[in-house]
Parts: sequence; structure tokens; C-alpha cells
Amino acid sequence: MGGGVVLSLERLDRILELDPENLTITVEPGVVTARIDEEARRFGLFYPPDPASVESCSIGGNVAVGAGGARAVKYGTTRDYVLGLEAVLPDGETLHIGGKNVKDASGYHLKDLFIGSEGTLGVITRITLRLVPRPEREVVLLAPFPSIHEAARAVTAILRARVVPAAAEFMDDVTIEAARRYLGRDLPGGPAAGAYVFVELDGRDLDAEMERVAEVVQDHGALDVLAAEDPGQRDRLWESRRCLGEALRAWGRQLGKADVVVPRARVPELVEAVRQAGRRHGLVAANFGHAGDGNVHVNFLREDLSEADWAERLPRALDEVMEAVRRLGGLPSGEHGIGVLKKPHLQRFLPERALALMASIKAAFDPLGILNPGKVV
Ligand SMILES: Cc1cc2nc3c(=O)[nH]c(=O)nc-3n(C[C@H](O)[C@H](O)[C@H](O)COP(=O)(O)OP(=O)(O)OC[C@H]3O[C@@H](n4cnc5c(N)ncnc54)[C@H](O)[C@@H]3O)c2cc1C
Repeated sequence: MGGGVVLSLERLDRILELDPENLTITVEPGVVTARIDEEARRFGLFYPPDPASVESCSIGGNVAVGAGGARAVKYGTTRDYVLGLEAVLPDGETLHIGGKNVKDASGYHLKDLFIGSEGTLGVITRITLRLVPRPEREVVLLAPFPSIHEAARAVTAILRARVVPAAAEFMDDVTIEAARRYLGRDLPGGPAAGAYVFVELDGRDLDAEMERVAEVVQDHGALDVLAAEDPGQRDRLWESRRCLGEALRAWGRQLGKADVVVPRARVPELVEAVRQAGRRHGLVAANFGHAGDGNVHVNFLREDLSEADWAERLPRALDEVMEAVRRLGGLPSGEHGIGVLKKPHLQRFLPERALALMASIKAAFDPLGILNPGKVV
């Protein structure tokens, strides 16, 4: 970066309108994401996208990166909820796109270009989001498995059993160990647990679905099945998954991360490839993420490596991971975006013509290249 102006939208933080007739909410971009669902809840409505950073990130940032979350498997990502946008273009003109209409077959979807554009096309200053009716019940099931292979097969089998979970998350053996060390207590499945699957179900008549999920995971080798409906107990079940940011940092000191996505059934192959890359470069590899949509958060742990060794080994290991992702038919980012660091990977994954089209879209919106220069394209 060669200097520039930093624009903070933190104080554009008003919820402007909740329209219960049209099931929409209109907000400014600096609203902290968690506030949107809190507001929706007051009207019996629901805003499902739930990035793990929901208590600290902004809705403008979510739209700008097309953020996902655990509930993407049933409800989709931020992209699926944006109905309308106001954006200030690089020449200072304000553009209004979309509104409260649910359907739109009226020309190119410029709105969708802004979603995931990472601030490179315009500054988003107002957002209208779709809300959905709030589910009456929520339950969480946690199933420990001997290995990631049984766990991944179980997730696919749940979906094939005509159950659409709100969330289906996994942790591998290293992340379970990280959580155990961090929380300082025994975790479900004990030392035999080589992987966890978390399933969140929501709706009205959940008893039959819970039974079905329990049957399927047991048929696929689950060591146990724990279920919770009470909010406190649900939080307790999710705790090992939710503490992972801190738990991995406490163990690894510094982390080398990737947020890759592969077709769902190829998650075990990816996890194996990540482990092999770790072994080849002397790094502990930890994997967790969204089993329901194949989005894996890969972490290499620095532990007590010197700065020089870490700087040499990590890029090689990450490069091998990206090569495996490409071979498995995946993409370099599932939900965190491209930014500056993943630009070389994008160039490896997308056809030249696609990259050229992206560059011409950027040039059409921002011919002087003043917005987030050097990002994405
Ligand atoms: C602990 C933790 C957990 C996370 N979990 C998830 C997860 O589960 N799922 C997920 O998808 N991500 C996750 N993330 C990544 C990140 O929090 C999200 O991607 C979030 O959407 C970014 O929002 P932000 O407000 O922090 O945006 P920022 O980081 O401030 O901005 C992100 C990008 O958007 C641009 N931008 C921001 N606001 C605007 C605007 N109004 N107009 C135009 N451009 C704008 C910025 O320039 C930047 O390029 C996580 C991050 C952390 C730290």
C-alpha cells in the first residue's frame, strides 16, 4: 500500500426501519450484525446469517465480503438476504439499487456485484435486508466420531435422509485437543474422539428430525450422541467449537490460515492433504469448519518455530493446500474473501478470461482505481 485515506463507517450505525409487512429491515452499514437479529426477534422475525464474528463485525463488512456463517447450509449467506443497496461511487455519485422487491428480473444484478466486492466498486451506505419468520424451536446435537472419514460421511447421509440442518459443523482431532486443553476439561467421546459433528436443527416439529439424525449418525459410527434444547445447554455443547479461535492461538502462538471450500463429499480428502502438507513442513495442522457446505478453516500452528523457519515453511504448506483444493474442484475462499493476500491464489483458480472480465468491471466502476487499490483484482 502506498498511502491513502482510511474511511470509517462506524458511526453510520442506525437501524432505519423494520417493515413487518414486507419482512425487511433497512440499516446503515456500521450496524453491528448481531443487532439486526436482535431487532428482528422483537417482531417474531429472523436474520439467519451468523458469521462467528457477529458480535463485533458490521453489516457493511458482511455485505462487502459476502460473509457466511454456520447457518449457510440451510439459509445461505449474506448475499441471499440483500434486497437493496445504496452505494457511493468513486466519482461521488450515489447509486440506489434494488429495494424491497423479492423478485428482480430487470436487467443485470448490479447489487450482486457489490456483494463480495470488498470495497473495490463503491462505498455501501445503506442496506435493505430480507428477514424470514423466526423458527419456534432450536436444538443442537453433538456426535463424536472415531475419525473425520465417518464424520463427513454422516453429514452427507443426514442431508440424504431429507433433513436440512440449520448448521452442520465439524472439528478434527487436533482442534478437539486444542479445545480440551483450552477449556481444561474432558470433552465428549474422550480420547477415542477423532472428529466432532455438530448439527443444529430448527423449526416447529423437531422430534422426528432429531431421532432421524441420531439414527443416521449412529449408523455411521458415532461414539455417542448428545442433544440440547435449553439455551444454556446448547451453548455448553457449542463451547468446544466456539472457543477454537482462542484455543488454537493459545496452543499455536501464531496461526497460518486458509478459508477454502471444496465440494462437500471431498472434505476428508482435503483434511488428509492438509495434514500431509503439515507433516512435510513440520507444522501441526488443525481443521474445522462448515461440513454442511464444504467450507474448511485450515490452520497451521507456529508453536515454538523461529520467525525465519515459520516464514519459510508456512507459505510452502499453504501453497500445497491451495494446490490440493484446486485438484479437488474447490475455491481459495469460502467466506472471508480475497483481499490482498489471496490474490495470487485467485489467479491460479480462475480462467484468464474471467479475471480479465473482473478487471473490466473494476475499471467501469472505478476508472482511477481509488477504492481499495490492489484488492481482489
Ligand atoms: C473471530 C472471527 C470470526 C469470524 N468468523 C467468520 C465467519 O464465520 N464467517 C465469515 O464469513 N467471516 C468470518 N470472519 C471474518 C469477518 O469477521 C467477516 O468476514 C465480516 O463480514 C467482516 O466484517 P467487518 O465489519 O469486520 O469488515 P471489515 O473487516 O472492516 O471490512 C471487510 C472488507 O469490506 C470492506 N468494507 C467494509 N465496509 C464497507 C462498506 N460499507 N462499503 C464498502 N466496503 C466495505 C473493507 O474495505 C474490507 O475490504 C471472522 C472474523 C473473526 C475475527
